[in-house]
Amino acid sequence: MLEVSAGRSKSGRDRRMSEDIVHVWEEDPGAHPSHRMPIGRTARDHGQLPLPFRIGEREPESQHSQRYALRYWTAVDSLARATDWISESALSEVVSWHPEMDGVMPVTLDAGIGLAGEYRRGSRDHGIFFFRTPSGHQTIYGCESPDIVCHEVGHAILDGLVPEIMETQRLEQQAFHEAFGDISSVLSSLTVESFCSAIIHETRGQINNSSRLSRMAEQLSVEMRRRLPGKTDVASVRELSNEFYYIDPMAVPIRAPASQICHERHSFSRVFSAAFLDALAGMFYPPKKTAADLQEVARKLAQILCQAVLATPNSDRYWADLAANMIIADARTFEGEHEAILRESFAGRGILTFDDLASIPEDALGGDPNYSPSDGPRDGSQIRDSQVCLPGHRYGISSDFGVRVPDQAPSVVPPVTGSTGTQEKLTDLASCFVEALFVHRQISVPKNLRTDRCLAAPERAVRATHEICETESGSVELRTIACHR
Ligand SMILES: [Zn+2]
Repeated sequence: MLEVSAGRSKSGRDRRMSEDIVHVWEEDPGAHPSHRMPIGRTARDHGQLPLPFRIGEREPESQHSQRYALRYWTAVDSLARATDWISESALSEVVSWHPEMDGVMPVTLDAGIGLAGEYRRGSRDHGIFFFRTPSGHQTIYGCESPDIVCHEVGHAILDGLVPEIMETQRLEQQAFHEAFGDISSVLSSLTVESFCSAIIHETRGQINNSSRLSRMAEQLSVEMRRRLPGKTDVASVRELSNEFYYIDPMAVPIRAPASQICHERHSFSRVFSAAFLDALAGMFYPPKKTAADLQEVARKLAQILCQAVLATPNSDRYWADLAANMIIADARTFEGEHEAILRESFAGRGILTFDDLASIPEDALGGDPNYSPSDGPRDGSQIRDSQVCLPGHRYGISSDFGVRVPDQAPSVVPPVTGSTGTQEKLTDLASCFVEALFVHRQISVPKNLRTDRCLAAPERAVRATHEICETESGSVELRTIACHR
C-alpha cells in the first residue's frame, strides 16, 4: 500500500493564493511489486496551461482516497509536463489543439475498463481518455502513469501541429504518431530534474542504455504480457533502447512478435523513437555531469524535432525527409553543432540512406536562413490525388472506399524511384495498410456497410483506431478515429 498524503486540502481558489505541494509519480509507477515512491510537486492548474485541459473528474477532496488523489495529481502534473516541453520547443503561434477541441482538450481520467489511454477525434467523441484494467489483486489506471499520459498528449500535440499526418493511411505516418507519443513521454520526463539525475546515475551517462527513461509504461506491461506474451517488450510496453533497423513498409511482415518489427504502428514506431534516443544520447556525450546539461540537450533536440515536423511535407519518404529536415533545422538554429550526431543516429537506423545524406544541399547545411526546399528541384507541391480507391467486396464491405495517401513530394531527400508512383503501386501500398488493420483488429465497419464476409470487428465492439465511414457527400472512406497507447 502506498503511504502518501491524500493531496492538498486547499480549494482551487486557495491554490492560486499559494503554492501547494501534491504527491505524484515521478515517472511510471513501475511493475508490481515496485519500490518506487511518489515525489512532491507544486500543484499545476490544468485549465491555465498554454495548452489548456478540462478534466471530467473532480479534484480530490477529503472524502477521496489517497490513491484517487495520487492518480489525479499525477495526471495533472503529467499533462503540465507535456505542455512544458512543447511550449519551450515550438513557437507559441504554431502550438494549438486540433480545431475540433475548440481550444480546450477534454480529458477523462477513468473512461472504464481498457488498456492505457487513447486520443480521439473525427468520430462520435473527441479528447483524451484513460482506462483502468484489473491485474491480479490490483487495478492499473492508465492516468496514473506519466509515460501513458504524456504519450497521449504527444498524439494531441502532433495532431495540432500537422493534422494531415494522423489522417494519412500509410505506415510511416501512423507510426510516427506513436513515436512522437513516446518522444513526448521522454521529453516530459526530462523536465523533472530529480528524474534526470536518477537517469544519469542509472545509465552512467549513456542515455540510450535501457533505463526508466527508455522503457515505456512498465507497470502496464506486466498485465499486457500476461494477456499477450508475444506482443510486448520484456520489461515495458515498448523499449526505445533497441536494435531495430528500418525496413521498407512493403517488405515488413504484417504480424510478428515484439522482438521484431512488423506492419503495426506501435511496433514500427520503435525504429524512429530509438533513433531519437540515440541522438539524445549522442548530444549528451561525452557524459556531462548535471541534470541541467541533460535538460538543455533535451530542449535543443525537441526544438530541432518541432522545426522539422513543421517543415516536412506529407510524402512517401516521410521519415527520411523528416530526419533530413532535423539536420537542416540544427544547421539553422545551432550552427550545425549536432550534425554529425544526427547523421549517425538516423543513418544508424536505416532511416536515412547514404544517398539521402549526400542529397542534403550544402547551402542548407551552411545554415543559410534564406534556404528553402522550394528552391530545389523537388518542391512540396501536390503531385497526385490524395486518395486511392479500394474495392469493398475484397474486405466484405458493400461499397468501394477511398484511402488517403501521401500527396506531396519530399522536400529534401530523393523521391521513391521505380514504379512506386504508379497507380498500381499506390493501390498495393494502400491494400497492404488496410490488410494490416484487419489483421491487427484495428478497424471497425458500421452495420450498414458490412456484408457477411467482413472480417472487421463489429461496430463499437472494440476501440478501433480506424473505421470505414460515409462522408457528408455520400462517398465512403477509411478514417483514423483514435490513437492508442
Ligand atoms: Zn499511441
